[in-house]
Amino acid sequence: MTWLPIRDELKGLHPYGAPQLDVPVRLNTNENPFQPPRDFVEDLAATVLEVAKTLNRYPDRDAMRLRTALAAYLAEESETPGIVAEQIWVGNGSNEVMMHVMQAFAGPGRTALTFSPTYSMYAEYARNTFTEFVTVPRRADHTVDAKLAVEAVRDLRPAVVFLASPNNPTGTAQSLDVVPAMLDAFDGMLVIDEAYAEFRRVGVGSAVSLVERHPRLVVTRTMSKAFGFAGARVGYLIAHPDVVDALRIVRLPYHLSSLTQAVALTALQHTSALQAQVQMLRAERNALVDWLSDEGYTTTPSDANFVMFGKFDDRQSAWQGLVEQGVLVREVGPEGFLRVSIGTAAEMERFKEALKKVGH
Ligand SMILES: *Cc1c(COP(=O)(O)O)cnc(C)c1O
Repeated sequence: MTWLPIRDELKGLHPYGAPQLDVPVRLNTNENPFQPPRDFVEDLAATVLEVAKTLNRYPDRDAMRLRTALAAYLAEESETPGIVAEQIWVGNGSNEVMMHVMQAFAGPGRTALTFSPTYSMYAEYARNTFTEFVTVPRRADHTVDAKLAVEAVRDLRPAVVFLASPNNPTGTAQSLDVVPAMLDAFDGMLVIDEAYAEFRRVGVGSAVSLVERHPRLVVTRTMSKAFGFAGARVGYLIAHPDVVDALRIVRLPYHLSSLTQAVALTALQHTSALQAQVQMLRAERNALVDWLSDEGYTTTPSDANFVMFGKFDDRQSAWQGLVEQGVLVREVGPEGFLRVSIGTAAEMERFKEALKKVGH
């Protein structure tokens, strides 16, 4: 690529993505390990058959039916009645809706801020939108220190702040008092990335309930994780209707295909079957955290469908050792730690056996 007149800051860079190796147990990208249930698959096929007849036409630009269904889902899931479609925005994955936030609210001369270690894509959104990017470290327990966060936004006046809760790769959910405290201290947009919200433990809140009171708060969600729908690419956010109107300005025309809109609607009709899978995964996750600490590993309580564990003197060779046993995890996060996604019970057994062989 060096011969190309590519932007200087992109020279020598590689595209984002976890290595995808063809091994029997793939626990590296936080996907839902269960294949879609059979009746769900059949409904999806019937949906596609219907939509196929209309593919000569562009989709509904504003995805109103889907946004209405997502509003109803979110109201129920977060116990926040009264959510309306005008507060919802939807795109090809929550990565796309977060990019829309950056395109509308960040850009040259503006700053985006996040709390590390966290999801590495935020830095890429900043790069792609010519936005300055600043990170503030999390505490040793991987939560965000409210006082430090308030000082940071007061000093830096960021245009956009990303706070992942539950955080990736640590699994840590953030206590919500930090939200009003930060919003009082700066005048930009605060994005709480709740990609893993459905996996949170009982008693852990969602920032969705705060959106009504805070017009510069954006909460993003995805169907990639809890819904086992990563391949369909559906992510969404909830915010003040004026925020959604701002995002509609920057989206590409007809960004969400008719097929995507229709299959997402069908998936939402299967919410309860899919929620049963989430319950199983949460139980597996809790059991794995206990097992890892019994085995002498350091872990953090997780509210997501993955667990970070360590500490390895040489995590690269531990990762490689697991691959040789047919188990793929992710080498990500603080030095000495690895991240494992929660798989089926059989996959977790394979993981435990492999880890026993590899050792600390
Ligand atoms: C997986 C993930 C997402 C979701 O990505 P999609 O584009 O919706 O598939 C968003 N944020 C974090 C922190 C994630 O780990």
